[in-house]
Amino acid sequence: MSHSPRDPHCVFCKIIAGEIPSTRVLETDQAIAFLDINPVNKGHLLIVPRAHYPRVLDLPDDLSAHVGSLVPRLARAVHDATGAEDSNVIINSGRVAGQTVDHCHWHILPRFQGDPVRWPWPQGSYADGEASQMADAIIRALKSD
Ligand code: AMP
Ligand code: ZN
Repeated sequence: MSHSPRDPHCVFCKIIAGEIPSTRVLETDQAIAFLDINPVNKGHLLIVPRAHYPRVLDLPDDLSAHVGSLVPRLARAVHDATGAEDSNVIINSGRVAGQTVDHCHWHILPRFQGDPVRWPWPQGSYADGEASQMADAIIRALKSD
């Protein structure tokens, strides 16, 4: 059997191992989904791969694909259970991006008209030629990955 990375200090690794409690709604061989302990709105779920990888860019492709495959069904269930009109599906990747638990996870956040969540984020624009330069840099990085 292949070895799954685990961090003995990680709160999600402890939840996965059953060492601290969680309110689980779905379990697969590679991931679990449970209620966020401090929900932005009630029904706020976390989907967590069983293996410990800190950020989304550290995840193996197949594990990311598996977790992503669970999103539509879980989102439908959150909508059904909460009566949410819509939802946000969010990954915070790294401290600067707001990640507080360094074990990659997806948030499914049910949304209601007039709820206290502040959105949208501020958006900018590209100067002439800047977007194609940026795209080229990303394409070069993709080729060398
Ligand atoms: P993030 O800021 O994206 O890293 O999200 C981490 C989330 O984990 C936060 O929304 C916390 O409320 C949630 N969280 C932290 N500890 C627990 C726990 N023991 N059980 C359930 N959710 C937790
Ligand atoms: Zn972990």
